[in-house]
Amino acid sequence: MKNNTNKSEADWQDQLTDEEYQILRQGKTEPPFSGELLDMDEEGTYRCAACGNRLFSSETKFKSGSGWPSFYNVIDNNNVQLKEDRSHGMRRTEVTCANCGSHLGHVFPDGPKPTGQRYCINSLALDFSSEN
Ligand code: FE
Repeated sequence: MKNNTNKSEADWQDQLTDEEYQILRQGKTEPPFSGELLDMDEEGTYRCAACGNRLFSSETKFKSGSGWPSFYNVIDNNNVQLKEDRSHGMRRTEVTCANCGSHLGHVFPDGPKPTGQRYCINSLALDFSSEN
């Protein structure tokens, strides 16, 4: 796992809640419709809950009906890393934080215009702030 921070797994375990750790560092998925940020519709920025890397803008958030916060674009392609994920008998594209390597969610090619992409992201992997 890529990690530009100086943190060890033990550090992440101290810093994050158990639920956050299981998602961000172990690649688990929160239950659908459980996330606090699912219905967040204020203007602002969504950052990596582990390292604070800027990931998504409220301008690209949309209601997908999937049960997870959904965005049709990232703030900067350099801020995330995409990887093929063949787990659970599926072929998906995993989205990870390019700074700390944490698991964020998956991206699917069934999103709205203009990108056609749907970044399906765990609410617990994100921190929202009303600043840009
Ligand atoms: Fe990060």
